[in-house]
Amino acid sequence: MAKKKNTILVIEDELSIRKILAISLESAGYRMVECDNGKEGIRLVASVKPELVLLDLGLPDIDGQEVIDGIRQWSQVPIIVCSVRNTDKEIINALSAGADDYVTKPFNPDVLLARIHTNLRKAAAQEAGEPELANGDIRMDLVRHEVFMGGQKVMLTPKEYELLRYFLINRGKMLTHKQVLKEVWGNAHMEDMQYLRVYVRQLREKIEPVPTQPRYIITEPGIGYRMESITLPVGHP
Ligand code: CA
Repeated sequence: MAKKKNTILVIEDELSIRKILAISLESAGYRMVECDNGKEGIRLVASVKPELVLLDLGLPDIDGQEVIDGIRQWSQVPIIVCSVRNTDKEIINALSAGADDYVTKPFNPDVLLARIHTNLRKAAAQEAGEPELANGDIRMDLVRHEVFMGGQKVMLTPKEYELLRYFLINRGKMLTHKQVLKEVWGNAHMEDMQYLRVYVRQLREKIEPVPTQPRYIITEPGIGYRMESITLPVGHP
């Protein structure tokens, strides 16, 4: 039996971009469904049930931010925003509204495909309820609450553990400072940027081969952090 193709819904009003996406998505083995406005996009999420949504923000009828709000009322489908808007404020607003990732235009099709792949894999892993999280040399046993770095056990404080877990679950994805603070420390600490800096520094000391040149927890200037998805163990050619 042929493997079911993942369906990607593209909400984009520029025909030329939809054409580029059609070529690149179809050659990567995805099925693409497209529309050129936000309201139809929201309807299609319900009727087509795509595995992932690629969303432009500047649409002719409603703003992309409204589309995110509309979809997030009832669906957790991964949403990657693909927009010419590149200010920190726009990016933070989209991520806070529930977008999973943000790619600025003009985009490199290979980078976009890598982000799509990361987000699809993450969604599948969440559904499967994996007992273990791994990335590169890092392995986290969620049952025993133990972390290993290249096979060596790493001692983490409970907060460091929670922070690392959140990064691992969201590996490959850009996270705002506020999202991380809210998820790891709770609503009351959403403004405590200093907490986050201190803990990220501590965590880097424990998991990064060279803490001053992070390979895993990358700073996204003005926005937050991203845990890079690393396939091969660090240090292996
Ligand atoms: Ca547009």
